[in-house]
Amino acid sequence: MEVDMTVKVGIPRGLMYYYYYPLWQEYFTNLGGEVLTSPKTNKAILDMGVKSALDETCLPVKVFYGHVAWLKDKVDYIFIPRLISVEWKEYICPKFMGLPDMIRANISGLPAVIDTTLDMSKSPKNKLKFAREIGLIFTSNPWVMANAWKKAVLKQKAYETLLVSKKMFPEEAIAYLQEKNNRILEANNYRLNIALLGHGYNIYDSYISMSIINKLRERGVNVYTADLLEVEEINNEAAKLPKRMFWTFGRKSIGGASFFLSNNKVDGMIHVASFGCGPDSMVGELILRQTRRNSNIPILTLTIDEHSGEAGVVTRLEAFLDMLSRRVAL
Ligand code: SF4
Repeated sequence: MEVDMTVKVGIPRGLMYYYYYPLWQEYFTNLGGEVLTSPKTNKAILDMGVKSALDETCLPVKVFYGHVAWLKDKVDYIFIPRLISVEWKEYICPKFMGLPDMIRANISGLPAVIDTTLDMSKSPKNKLKFAREIGLIFTSNPWVMANAWKKAVLKQKAYETLLVSKKMFPEEAIAYLQEKNNRILEANNYRLNIALLGHGYNIYDSYISMSIINKLRERGVNVYTADLLEVEEINNEAAKLPKRMFWTFGRKSIGGASFFLSNNKVDGMIHVASFGCGPDSMVGELILRQTRRNSNIPILTLTIDEHSGEAGVVTRLEAFLDMLSRRVAL
């Protein structure tokens, strides 16, 4: 059965939002849906998430729960894809695989959930199957579906170009594509350069990260993240690992760190990790070892959860920046 053209689809502003929002938003819109995105994370959203999720869940997943809770009474469908793999021969954290089930079990009164599976581990072509299954919810017309997907892919490419070529961060690039921000940021020429490593859903969510990017910029720091690098730059560096890293985000963080180190691009690195995250503890350790073995660049690890206080983060950041400034001045 085809749904009517005004169906509202909710996209929670969390987790993979920071990687794929332009693709999803454009696809749903061109399929005839109206997309409602939850607002930026705030205390009320975090509180709703903490209330619904199990205690031991990592902070970004709790925040995602909060975004779902915010959307659930406002939309006809809510988009919580079952993500197993987003790259060929690689996987992502198993929490993404169970996300739709965990949310159904913990949040009552949900609208219909679009929980289509994406598993590109065996073949990149599986993303077309993913797109088709979603498209069939809206239309049985293959031309409408194909056209909507083509536009969505182009939008995603434009988004990724803004990240890599214009060095915009995700929210800046999304606002630019939506014509809410027509300003291409001028490259700053600050004295300190820092690589900020970690999951996009941690470092770009200003509530989770306590606006770390703005705090660094306000203190005169050029901030670089792995998402602003060319895919080949990351892949070439990740290929130097003795064993293939089959976690997409881990490979990106380690490949990014290695790129920044081998190109002498940064004065220091900050790794933002989620408390209780298995992948982060392993990736963090690998980045530390790699940094100590190949350079004398200082690295700060910030492990965050919902109890992390902003004052503590600011104190550690300022001490780190003071130390870097002294090193640079020597
Ligand atoms: S990788 Fe870590 S932070 Fe991300 S969802 Fe999994 S446990 Fe949470």
